[in-house]
Amino acid sequence: MPLRNVERTPTGVWEALQAGNQRFMDHRGDHPNQDAPRRAALRDGQKPSAVVISCSDSRVPVEIIFDVGLGDLFVVRTAGEILDQAVFGSIEYAIEALDVPLVVVMGHESCGAVAATAAALDGGEIPGGYQRVLIEKVAPSILEARGLGKSTAEEYEGHHVLATVNQILSRSPEIAERVEQGKVGIVGLRYRLSDGFTEPVITRNVD
Ligand SMILES: [Zn+2]
Repeated sequence: MPLRNVERTPTGVWEALQAGNQRFMDHRGDHPNQDAPRRAALRDGQKPSAVVISCSDSRVPVEIIFDVGLGDLFVVRTAGEILDQAVFGSIEYAIEALDVPLVVVMGHESCGAVAATAAALDGGEIPGGYQRVLIEKVAPSILEARGLGKSTAEEYEGHHVLATVNQILSRSPEIAERVEQGKVGIVGLRYRLSDGFTEPVITRNVD
């Protein structure tokens, strides 16, 4: 079902995204909202159903994974789904100005940013230029994961998603307040390259 027909509640949108992901996994996507009428209808404004913060990895195309189309998702992508002021501003804009009821944080299997950070922490090379920030921003998640006894790439990827969700809630009072009130839901996912499933790591207000 196209997202424009779903109930604009945290649970309604989450269920629609899960259904879309299932269609994608089963190779029976509807490819909704990708035609000329939809494109024209959006000319004067947008009302996306969720804001998604995802890794930039080319294997993680958000709209394809959730089988949605134009105007459905407000997407912010950075390598390693790291957060900075521009990302926070984008999330808060989606929530406050576009009234989206759901925040999705999505990491993935075989994430290069997570692997490079783990390698750097083990004495490997730290990339130069602006790439250094990718390592610096992912490192706290990996260190925290190790402190909890986690040691595999899969565990690091999942914990980085969890830590990113927690960071969003602790650093943005605007977002945290709406989540506390139940108006906005937040889910953390780890996308599996192998079968296409968006595995939940953490969910709030969507049950
Ligand atoms: Zn990645």
